Amino acid sequence: MGQIADSFVQAFRDYVVNGVPASGRNEPNKSEIRAIGPAIEFQLGAITAGVSRYPNVAAMNAAIGVEAGHLAYVYRNNGSASDSANGYYQYTGSAWEIAPWVGNGVGADIASLNEILENAGIPTAKQELNWNDITATGFYRGSSVTGQTTGAPTTAAYLTLLHIQGQGTAAFQLASQTSTSDSAGRWVRSRSAVSGEWGEWASIAATSAIKRAGVASGLSYLDNGMYRKVPQDSIYHTMSSGDVYANSAAALYARYDQFITDFPDYVTKRSLGQDDFGNDILEYTFAAPTIRGYGYTPEQKANPKIVMTGGVHPDEKNTIVGTLAFFDDLCRNHQQSSILSQLRRSCTIVFLPICNPSGVNSNTRVNGNGVNVGRNLSWDWANNNAPDRGPSPLSEKESVIIASLPALHPDACIFVDNHGHAGSHFTWIGARLTQSLDMALHTSRLLENKLRRQFVPAVYDNETVTAVTTTAIGGPPSEWAMVHNKNAILIENAENRAWAGISLADLRRVTAAGIGECLFEAWRRKSSEGSAGPYTLVDAVDAQASLIDDLLMRVEALEAD
Ligand SMILES: [Zn+2]
Repeated sequence: MGQIADSFVQAFRDYVVNGVPASGRNEPNKSEIRAIGPAIEFQLGAITAGVSRYPNVAAMNAAIGVEAGHLAYVYRNNGSASDSANGYYQYTGSAWEIAPWVGNGVGADIASLNEILENAGIPTAKQELNWNDITATGFYRGSSVTGQTTGAPTTAAYLTLLHIQGQGTAAFQLASQTSTSDSAGRWVRSRSAVSGEWGEWASIAATSAIKRAGVASGLSYLDNGMYRKVPQDSIYHTMSSGDVYANSAAALYARYDQFITDFPDYVTKRSLGQDDFGNDILEYTFAAPTIRGYGYTPEQKANPKIVMTGGVHPDEKNTIVGTLAFFDDLCRNHQQSSILSQLRRSCTIVFLPICNPSGVNSNTRVNGNGVNVGRNLSWDWANNNAPDRGPSPLSEKESVIIASLPALHPDACIFVDNHGHAGSHFTWIGARLTQSLDMALHTSRLLENKLRRQFVPAVYDNETVTAVTTTAIGGPPSEWAMVHNKNAILIENAENRAWAGISLADLRRVTAAGIGECLFEAWRRKSSEGSAGPYTLVDAVDAQASLIDDLLMRVEALEAD
């Protein structure tokens, strides 16, 4: 209160110069008396606020004589509202010092509030690297997230998540991925109140996808009005040919050898010979078990057998990798497709993945002798007019092996030559004999329906995306059909993304779907073909073999009991 007292002393002093009688009596001056009012108001304001306010540090330091512990604040030091010396001070009894506890207490509360808001997604998402660290509703981001990754979103990029905590560890989470760089999707999972463990994520249908094209594995799309899930499919669907085999026949064979390692009861291989450069031409057999039972011959019970060649033209790389993806899915993901599961459980598929290994190694369409293996077959060789058809029919060891397949597999129901093309349709099926053409037409219609629904942009709605042809030029299918009278077809898969909007993964899926549809239709016709009447007794079987089969089944039945 020194300021108010001083103001009174000044206004009502006895002499003109305070304390000096010789200066004469002082008459109170009105302006000095009026100045007392603002001083009183200033101090009353400070009392009301609990603190004294000063425009700058110098003014505060001039105010001494207040009680120890009194608070003050400086609000405009150096004439600036943002001066670093602005803030709260306390009086020690002899001087002013900064009172950090006043501002910091409030600051910590505000920081905590900011964190809560930030974790709630306002305005940024919280970084998480383990799903199981997320225990609150919020907005999250992160890549390569660990913990319960099966079926989960591939990343936590821009994931809005609802967490409902139950009793104990029981909890439920609903997550929705909204990033524009990933397919939108929704997932749910729950945590057990008993074990305290989270279950795996399960995706729920995305309502926006009306085609399979562009939808990632594990997410859903609408197919003929029903929700379907894109299965977890082969890693080869998204790998470049360079990453898969880098123009190395040995590296490509190693991919198929992995099937033997992983599925030794299902996949086997043998060499059918070597080319002029010491490269093996290998045949891989994917053999489903035959139906058990007795009283019939092995031939009667045998599953339909399909023989297929690939890698005749090594420059058709998308087909080479797409076909590898088909076999990978056949081995690993067959449960997710009725076509694959039928072929896996009820068919024998013999496949020669590299009919031109020297061409694979040199990254050329022709083999190491400069010959187009696919134009070196015997049927109509003289008229095929290919400049690289070779010096004579079957001059190449590769084409000799291809031509020998009907003799090696007389029991096969169809022979398939698998290629790629650069045309503007997806899958093209070639056939020469009537039974083959019947199958080609039906398969093409089925495939047209499937590809149109699942993959093709609507802009092409009035054209077919599949095709059939007579394969008039000599090649493996003509050789098998015209020389050996075998049911034989040519499959040509799209090599490029001529159809706008098709991703590499979708192009490979189209390739695998075309191969699957053709092989399945060949299997279905053979497996379901009926015997022509009049009906007769089934041929007699080997009595001893039948007896052993009978005994084995009875022993198994006993063990089962
Ligand atoms: Zn070709």
